[in-house]
Amino acid sequence: MLVTQELAKIFACPVCLEHISAGGDCIHCGESFNKPETRTYSFVCRGMYPSDADFDSATKVIDFWGNGWKKRLAETDHSFLFDMDAAQLGSYADKSIAWCRKNKTLMGFEVPIESLKNKLVLNIGCGAGDEALMLSRAGATCFAMDITLPAAQAANSLLGKVGGGIGFQADARHLPFPSGSIDFVYSSGVLHHSADIKKSISEIYRVLKPGGTAYLMLYAKWSITFMQEKLLRWTGEAAWETEGRKNPLTTTHSARDCRKLFADFEQVNVNKRGGSFRNIAKIGRFLPQTFDFLVDKTLGANMNIVAIKPAV
Ligand SMILES: [Zn+2]
Repeated sequence: MLVTQELAKIFACPVCLEHISAGGDCIHCGESFNKPETRTYSFVCRGMYPSDADFDSATKVIDFWGNGWKKRLAETDHSFLFDMDAAQLGSYADKSIAWCRKNKTLMGFEVPIESLKNKLVLNIGCGAGDEALMLSRAGATCFAMDITLPAAQAANSLLGKVGGGIGFQADARHLPFPSGSIDFVYSSGVLHHSADIKKSISEIYRVLKPGGTAYLMLYAKWSITFMQEKLLRWTGEAAWETEGRKNPLTTTHSARDCRKLFADFEQVNVNKRGGSFRNIAKIGRFLPQTFDFLVDKTLGANMNIVAIKPAV
């Protein structure tokens, strides 16, 4: 298992892709990424964006989700994680993996949890760090990144307790890794909020080793959840709103869209999951789950994608 200093050596500058010194500075362009005041590496800087407009759009995303995370991390569904010691976090991760298997989520159903030992896994949009905990529990070395600083710090603190990974701030459109350096990429429920999802996926392709695999969940266009949001013009993500801030962007994707997005990959499997009549607003919670099997794979909100980069 690699320790933090060894992990940090793997990073590359997101501006010019050159190496980073032990102090956290790019050896080529001099940009500084290890800022002591943030207690984590921060790979978001003006220099990596082609224009002011791109930087402004990233700032809006960071503002909305960053303030959302500040609020959510203090709520009871996340705050308990930070009172746990390493042993408690380990058993929490085991329970979470069992739950994911039972509920056939991307992590529990598509990711080969038994094959992660000693692999380098990049978790894009790590949030509070729950998934990073599971990945590191499975024996992977986990790079857990979030575009917001509060989430990156939270994940970094959890991984610091259990070992086997590092949390840091980065933008999926500018991944701070050399090409061909990562075994697996895992990203669930994140990249449909990217202002340039094509660029994010081309970055995933770039950093994966030949033969490496990406596991992604994107929101499904033809789903009970998102068809009603569209019809009723709901914006969604209300739990993340703070002081009148609105979610800047959510996109939804058909199976065809997903295959197109991952066209450069060699093998692409797309499975829709998670459909339930309970997703119907207002009345759904009163409906029985008996007939959910009818809509699970046809009107589910999750497009689970497994995409393999060609081996050569
Ligand atoms: Zn540089």
